[in-house]
Amino acid sequence: MNFGYREACLEHDPGEGHPERPSRLRRIRRALADRHGVEYAAPEPADRRELLTVHDSGYIDAVESLAGAGGGRWDGDTVANAATWTAARASAGIARWVALRALAGADGTETPFGLGRPPGHHALSDDAMGFCFFNNAAIAAETVLRAGADRVAIVDWDVHHGNGTQELFYDRGDVFYASVHETDLYPSTGRTEETGVGPGAETTLNVPLPGAAGDPGYRAAFAEAIGPAVVAFDPDVIVVSAGFDAHENDPISAVGVSTEGYARLAAAIRAVAADADAGLGFVLEGGYDLAALGDSVGRPLSGSRHRVAERQTSQDGRATRPGVLSGYARRQRPAVRDPVIEIA
Ligand SMILES: [Zn+2]
Repeated sequence: MNFGYREACLEHDPGEGHPERPSRLRRIRRALADRHGVEYAAPEPADRRELLTVHDSGYIDAVESLAGAGGGRWDGDTVANAATWTAARASAGIARWVALRALAGADGTETPFGLGRPPGHHALSDDAMGFCFFNNAAIAAETVLRAGADRVAIVDWDVHHGNGTQELFYDRGDVFYASVHETDLYPSTGRTEETGVGPGAETTLNVPLPGAAGDPGYRAAFAEAIGPAVVAFDPDVIVVSAGFDAHENDPISAVGVSTEGYARLAAAIRAVAADADAGLGFVLEGGYDLAALGDSVGRPLSGSRHRVAERQTSQDGRATRPGVLSGYARRQRPAVRDPVIEIA
C-alpha cells in the first residue's frame, strides 16, 4: 500500500480534548512502521484552483482568513488554528494524489491510501462542519473527472453520513455516492429515501444501520446493496471515504465493527473494484480510538496478499513468505482499548 502523507497535516490542532487530534496520524504511522511494503509519498498541497472545483471562493477566503488570524471556532465541533489553512490544503492535495494514482491503475500493494487530516466528508461547498474544512473525497472525484474519467463512485464507510459529499453530487449523474452509517448519529442525514435528484436520480445510496448491526450488518450492506449498485454504475475509479469510527472500540459510535470486519470491508471493496474494472483509492476520514485506528488502517493490505505472493514468487522463482502477510498475522489478537485515550 502506498500512503500519501505530509507533516503539515500534524499541525492542524483543534485543541486539548478534541477527538480529531494530530496523534491520530502519528499512531497510524507507528502502526505501519514495522510493516513491509509500506511506502510514502508527499503529494503537493491543493492550490486555490483545485479547491475551487468543489468550494466557493468566498468560503475558501474565510477559511484562509480564520487561520491567518491565528485560528478560532468555526462551529461547536470545527476549530481552526494558525496551521489549518496549510494542513487542509495538504489534506486535499493528498486526496488528489490518491485519485490520480487510482486512475493510473495503481493496485495491489500500490493501492493509494491518503493519510490526511483534517477529514473532509462533512464539508459543504460553502461551509465547514463536523471537523471538516475541505471535502477531500469530493476533490478527489473532481480530479478524476477533470483528468478524463467519465464516472466516479465514492463509497463512504465512516460511521457518520457524509452529508457534504452527498450534497455536492446530489444532482450529478457522473458521481455515485454510497454511504453506510449508524442511524441517528451526527449529522442526522443519510436516510434511505435520499437517492438523488435530476440527472443525479438514483446516484445516491444510503444504508443507515442500527447501533447493534456490527460486522454482519456492514457485510450485508456491501454484499447486498453497495457492491451491486457500484458495479452497475460502472465507475472508472472508486474513492473510499475510509473512516474507522464504526470500530467497536471507538468512543463516539455504537455500531461495533471489528478490526477484522474492516479487513473484510476492504476485501469487499477490492472485489467490487475488480468487478467494475475500476481504479481504487482510500482517503482517511474519522476514527477516534487510536489503537483501533492504527490496527485498522493497515488492513486494506490484506486484500492484496495473493497478488503480493505472485509477485514475490515470480521475482526469485520460488515462493517466499510475503512481507505484508507477516505484518497481517501479527495483528491476529483481540483488540484492546488504548489505556491512554480519554475523550473530553
Ligand atoms: Zn465519522
